[in-house]
Amino acid sequence: MHPEETLDPSDWPAFRLQAHAMLDDMLEHTAQLRQRPVWQPIPQALRDGFRQHLPRQATDLAVLHQRFLQEVLPYSVGNAHPGFMGWVQGGGTAVGMLAEMLTAGLNANVGGRDQIALEVEHQILHWMCELFSFPDTASGLFVTGTSIANLIAVLIARTARLGGQVRHDGIGHNGHLLRAYTSAGAHGCISQAMDLAGFGTAALRIIPVNARYQMDLAQLTQAIQADRAAGLQPFLIVGSAGTVDVGAIDDLDALATLAREQDIWFHVDGAYGALGMLASDIAPKLRGIERADSIAFDFHKWGQVPYDAGYILVREGAQQLATFAAPANYLRRENRGMSAGSPWPCDLGPDLSRGFRALKTWFTIASYGADKLGRMISHSCELAHYLKQRIERTAQLQLLAPVNLNIVCFRYADVAAEYLDELNAELLIRLQVSGLVAPSGTSIAGQFALRAAIVNHRTTRRDIDTLCDATLHLGHQLRAHYPTIKLARAA
Ligand SMILES: *Cc1c(COP(=O)(O)O)cnc(C)c1O
Repeated sequence: MHPEETLDPSDWPAFRLQAHAMLDDMLEHTAQLRQRPVWQPIPQALRDGFRQHLPRQATDLAVLHQRFLQEVLPYSVGNAHPGFMGWVQGGGTAVGMLAEMLTAGLNANVGGRDQIALEVEHQILHWMCELFSFPDTASGLFVTGTSIANLIAVLIARTARLGGQVRHDGIGHNGHLLRAYTSAGAHGCISQAMDLAGFGTAALRIIPVNARYQMDLAQLTQAIQADRAAGLQPFLIVGSAGTVDVGAIDDLDALATLAREQDIWFHVDGAYGALGMLASDIAPKLRGIERADSIAFDFHKWGQVPYDAGYILVREGAQQLATFAAPANYLRRENRGMSAGSPWPCDLGPDLSRGFRALKTWFTIASYGADKLGRMISHSCELAHYLKQRIERTAQLQLLAPVNLNIVCFRYADVAAEYLDELNAELLIRLQVSGLVAPSGTSIAGQFALRAAIVNHRTTRRDIDTLCDATLHLGHQLRAHYPTIKLARAA
């Protein structure tokens, strides 16, 4: 007979040495991030190394770790790097990394049952209620990200409007009359949520933005009235607290007032911006968020918690429960023993098995303190302002949108108008390939823009200077390939 096998190490002391080496390497990598490229292209041979057959036999952990160091670590997208300014992504922290290790060690399944993990998750809910001035009756749930949090909000707003029977009957005729509203600057996942919830994307009215890129209130009011007049039923307004393109914050207070007057659910997509509440200089811009029926946001963006850590906060927890709980299950649970503590997280969303995202969030907030996290948020906005000033002082650079928070849209402008988009699209790729800084691209009023989204706590003025200098240098090089304004005029 074979000795009984488990997956635990047979030689714990040797495993311990290997484990310490892995931890040390990762800490060293984090400490030296600045010395490395933000991003670099993946050699084809490396890609091919991940197209092998299912391994039937064991491989030594040390060998796999070496492969990780050489083949995985250098080829991430670079959002931990101080020069990363592409899209809106957090940088993570060493504290968060350690918490992830502890979480994996626990291997807690936080769908339910009477376990301390639920209390940690409850602590985060309590903190968020404090931050957003939500009542004690609020509920909250960790999910992968704001995309799913927004979907959950749409589903709760649906159930609140159509009643619990919708879960059995589907949205039916009445559901097809429902209409939702958001701004042209809203994230694409809002429209996706309408699709997934069964309303279809056409049930979402896209309201134009004003000069400050906020949802235009007059046009919103008109759209709601027109829909009512046509026999349709407005049920949801989604405000944005920090749009991905330009960092605009809707007039949340006015939206809350309108939603209340019109008896419409008011949801805020605050994916990255909502945690601006932690920063004393940003919080006033979010006025009105405390009146929302629900808020979706990510701890993994401005909160710097390692991926993934999305969150949905709902003012009246009973409505979240009514949307997801199977009453037959949660009402019948025990008051004592491991099955106590109802309702459980699985009663508040679609996941049954789920990881312990609350622990890394708890470690991050508790170890740095809310004030320091807030200062990091303020600092990224100061850097955006600094970048804006450098652009305004540089004749060859042009600002393309107002800078409200931490996002700056600009372009290299010293070339004939017909080449602007082409040149800047190429410039963006060259910036990314340079490994020095990595902005992303977007379209502002139909024009191609370089977008620097400053989210990472590691980013400093030095990185902003590098971005400007590299943009000017590469822009100048590229300009030689295109007829200049002067040449164009002379022709
Ligand atoms: C990032 C973002 C999302 C999507 O969040 P995920 O966590 O990536 O799912 C939605 N809305 C806004 C405004 C965002 O910035």
